[in-house]
Amino acid sequence: MKTVRLGKSELMVSQVGFGGIPIARISYEEAARCIDTAIDLGVNFFDTAIGYQDSEDKIGRAIQAGHRRDQVVIATKAPPRDGPTLERDLDKSLERLRTDYVDLYQFHNIRNAATLEKSLGMMDVLLKAKEQGKVRHIGATVHGVDWINQVIETGVFETVMIALNFIVSEAAEAVLPAARRCDVGVIAMKPMAGGHLTDARLAFKYFVGLGDAVVPLVGIQSPDEIREIVGIFDGGEGPTEAERGEMARIREETGDRFCRRCEYCMPCEHGVKIVPITIFTSLARRMSAKHVVEGYGGQAMKTLENCIQCGECEKRCPYDLDIQAIFRENYEYYKELVAQCGGS
Ligand code: SF4
Ligand code: SF4
Repeated sequence: MKTVRLGKSELMVSQVGFGGIPIARISYEEAARCIDTAIDLGVNFFDTAIGYQDSEDKIGRAIQAGHRRDQVVIATKAPPRDGPTLERDLDKSLERLRTDYVDLYQFHNIRNAATLEKSLGMMDVLLKAKEQGKVRHIGATVHGVDWINQVIETGVFETVMIALNFIVSEAAEAVLPAARRCDVGVIAMKPMAGGHLTDARLAFKYFVGLGDAVVPLVGIQSPDEIREIVGIFDGGEGPTEAERGEMARIREETGDRFCRRCEYCMPCEHGVKIVPITIFTSLARRMSAKHVVEGYGGQAMKTLENCIQCGECEKRCPYDLDIQAIFRENYEYYKELVAQCGGS
């Protein structure tokens, strides 16, 4: 697999990286098989976080068992709470990853001016860690297109990670010019739109089409999944006209109603289970009407009667979704499903 330069960090990483969230749902043995297969196929970039349950531990164990530390670039992250906590988080990550250094340490989830300021205020901790050899490069993960360029323009971050897929392709347009100008490497999370997209070929061809500008992270739970994705990149073919048309159709269909499932809108003081309601249509696509009405989605929909339309959730949504409109649409759909099931 081809490697690309990750901005001014000068890290050379595979065109697609390994996202550490899904391996938290599988066993240590299964995770090790996925990690080993990925490295065998040329994937050398692994991203995880202290907050991803046992993901760091699984990656650390697999890499140590295979004696492959020098073959991989490891990125991890922690939220910017305070200096002493950040130091402890970094040491904990090093211990779990079974390594003396991480190649890239990221402030996790800079989502407004306050968290940006807080992160900048803690930069001395990471600069000291750099001097000690514990951290090689410093980056940030960012939610909300509005903030990304401010983070890039600070000049202190060598990489930024953003939510990007062909549904929210405007994020690439917003970020890439500043990233190029400041020589900041761009990493993409949520290439499958948090499970909303089902066609991996289409989803990753979008990134092949972006060339070396962005390194997407793929979350997998089986060796076959990583084989499929690597095959798409090794094929080197960007989207055809027909595939671009299909992307546009899906984008049009979802538009500003697409919930990224980041849960920043939660919790609701009035007990409304916001996210299962905003993703109700997507849940319903994967299940029978009866299952969705009687299960998790239907139970959540019943909490909607508590909504007083205070607007607090919309203020917290970094994607400016019209949550009330999504509620209304999904509630109509829910009623249709209830009727199909013979309810009232
Ligand atoms: S509008 Fe207010 S009450 Fe309704 S779901 Fe959002 S936060 Fe809860
Ligand atoms: S409504 Fe907005 S804040 Fe809530 S999960 Fe969806 S994208 Fe995230």
